[in-house]
Amino acid sequence: MTFEPTRAAGLARLAEFVPRAGRPYAAERNTDRGPGDRSNVSTLSPWVRNRLVTEREVVEAVLQRHSLDAASKFVQEVYWRTYWKGWLELRPSVWAHYTAAIEPAHAALTSEDRVTYEAAIAGRTGIEGFDDWARELVELGYLHNHARMWFASIWIFTLRLPWQLGADFFLRHLLDGDPASNTLSWRWVAGLQTVGKTYLATTQNIEFATEGRFSPRGLATVAPAVDDDAPLPVPGPAPQAAAVPPGRVALLLHDDDLHAESLDLSGAEVVAVASPAATSRDGSAAPVAEFVAAALADGRERAGTHYGAEASVLDGLTASAILPWMHAHDVRQLVTPYAPVGPVRDRLDALERALAPEGVTLTRVLRPWDALAWPHATRGFFPFREQIPALLQY
Ligand SMILES: Cc1cc2nc3c(=O)[nH]c(=O)nc-3n(C[C@H](O)[C@H](O)[C@H](O)COP(=O)(O)OP(=O)(O)OC[C@H]3O[C@@H](n4cnc5c(N)ncnc54)[C@H](O)[C@@H]3O)c2cc1C
Repeated sequence: MTFEPTRAAGLARLAEFVPRAGRPYAAERNTDRGPGDRSNVSTLSPWVRNRLVTEREVVEAVLQRHSLDAASKFVQEVYWRTYWKGWLELRPSVWAHYTAAIEPAHAALTSEDRVTYEAAIAGRTGIEGFDDWARELVELGYLHNHARMWFASIWIFTLRLPWQLGADFFLRHLLDGDPASNTLSWRWVAGLQTVGKTYLATTQNIEFATEGRFSPRGLATVAPAVDDDAPLPVPGPAPQAAAVPPGRVALLLHDDDLHAESLDLSGAEVVAVASPAATSRDGSAAPVAEFVAAALADGRERAGTHYGAEASVLDGLTASAILPWMHAHDVRQLVTPYAPVGPVRDRLDALERALAPEGVTLTRVLRPWDALAWPHATRGFFPFREQIPALLQY
């Protein structure tokens, strides 16, 4: 299984998967047959993560072939991603709290814990399955959803390591590593997301769902919720769509959205396109950095062709990289796809502050998919799920 970082490769994977997105997916998706057979899931997440292929395209392709009834499980899974993004968007402090906890969690490891941590990330704990998933993650940058759940559960409740360090390990190695889906899934396993409800991986479940490939012994038999002194924040307001400025604009692409062709930029004249050369995901493992760099190049080239504008490579999402490029094109208005909570957002916030004194505006273009769905992420996934038929109408 390989992940080629181009939109064309993502669309090919989607086309290949669509026939299986109905009842076979619903019935078989929970089985992890190993990296040699991923035919029961889509493996689309690395492309969707960077929006080389959008959620909307994925869902539309599936619903052209299947009824919503037949494909409801798959459509709901895609909306899990949207839900997590919306949940974090309404509660950005959860991301800030997590990122601030990583270094202290490292520093607080006892020497014994440190040995366990090093063994866990190297796949040397002696726990069947867990070690295989650690190596699979590092080598392939992808894990089946259930392997992610089992790994996180064993990390927290059997190895008793801080969940933040496990989430960080995932985020650095997953090609689809996503601030919302990753952080909130780890929190969910730890019992922080649905307060008090944890996820306990059991030998029987792993044996059953891996079709006997793994039968780990000595797993924790209880999963007490992890303590966290920060209460769940009250959801804040959802972002509102900003009007795209009319006239000449420069289009800035980034890790979080690389399908500029489907952004609604009506009224604007795109005179230049650019994206950074490298990912904004600091600390990414080399395969992730390479995947995102190539995805950024793919998105930039397509956008340049689509808008008939020169496509440039920038040395980062900073004012010092962006202003000379904008001056060269004699443009004062910058537009960019909306970046949800995460490292790109942090850079755009700093960029906007640095551009303001220069008289350059930054407009973030929010997609209708997100604008409509995120306001519903105020509670759990089940009330959110009720909105899916209405969300699909727009
Ligand atoms: C501890 C843990 C960490 C995770 N970290 C990430 C992460 O960093 N990035 C990420 O994209 N997903 C993450 N997930 C969610 C999920 O495991 C992956 O999205 C899924 O396995 C991707 O494989 P697929 O494309 O074959 O999924 P499919 O089963 O084919 O699903 C189709 C699409 O739906 C979305 N999706 C499916 N399940 C979920 C889910 N539970 N949550 C959110 N979106 C989902 C993905 O975009 C996926 O591509 C995590 C789950 C756990 C338990």
